[in-house]
Amino acid sequence: MSATDIAKLPVMLSTLRLPTIARLWQDLGQRADREGWGTARFLAVLCEHEIHERHARRIARHLAEAALPPGKTFATFDFASVPTLRKAHVLALAQGDAWLDQGANILLFGPSGTGKTHLGAAIGVALVEQGHRVMFTRTTDLVQMLQAARRDLSLPAMLAKLDRFDCLILDDLGYVRKDQAETSVLFELIAERYERRSIIATCNQPFSEWNQIFPDPAMTVAAIDRLVHHATILELNTESYRRRKAAGSKATTSG
Ligand code: ADP
Ligand code: MG
Repeated sequence: MSATDIAKLPVMLSTLRLPTIARLWQDLGQRADREGWGTARFLAVLCEHEIHERHARRIARHLAEAALPPGKTFATFDFASVPTLRKAHVLALAQGDAWLDQGANILLFGPSGTGKTHLGAAIGVALVEQGHRVMFTRTTDLVQMLQAARRDLSLPAMLAKLDRFDCLILDDLGYVRKDQAETSVLFELIAERYERRSIIATCNQPFSEWNQIFPDPAMTVAAIDRLVHHATILELNTESYRRRKAAGSKATTSG
């Protein structure tokens, strides 16, 4: 190899998108010389580093795009305070795979403050860490985006974009109100993803109150049918974690 070619090495590595090798090859090359690695081992070690960091960069990118609320992970979730949940079951769900492959759903029900958002986000983090793509959003925000897309005639493109996510986490689905106009876009999203792409939804209200969300009873029934058909329903019917914490800290300060 001529000296010119060696000088081009940084550019070539950048063209090939191998930033880790570009960063490490000199140091590792010296070590390889010192320790008498041989070319195959040297190359293998470089490749290993590149693959490892590429994986880490990918997860970091997917965590950023997922827009998950910070700090809401399993590490900070206290299962003991939600006796209606079986920890092993929830952790198995967070491993994804089978239900994600089927485009199945998880529905989290319970009163305000019982940990639905926290749990949905924690499952989301775990899925991203396993290499899945996730997007967390308040359902009302997403409905507004979908409505805007429909007005611009870009709804199909928007749905296609959302299709890249293995799982959408729709927080507070029950806050959507049909008087916001055209909440049928939410139905379209649910129908579009049915049996293909997963949804995790959190909701304060039981299904009996979902007629507040969709424009007409037939659409409400159709939406519930599609969401529930392949779904795990988790009920967090405890007392508000927030309220218990507040009561607990009051007890400590006064006592
Ligand atoms: P919801 O979405 O059901 O209204 P959140 O998930 O927002 O409730 O929970 C309210 C607050 O209490 C959040 O700060 C959340 O992190 C915390 N929280 C709720 N349940 C738990 C739990 N089991 N362990 C730890 N923190 C919890
Ligand atoms: Mg919530």
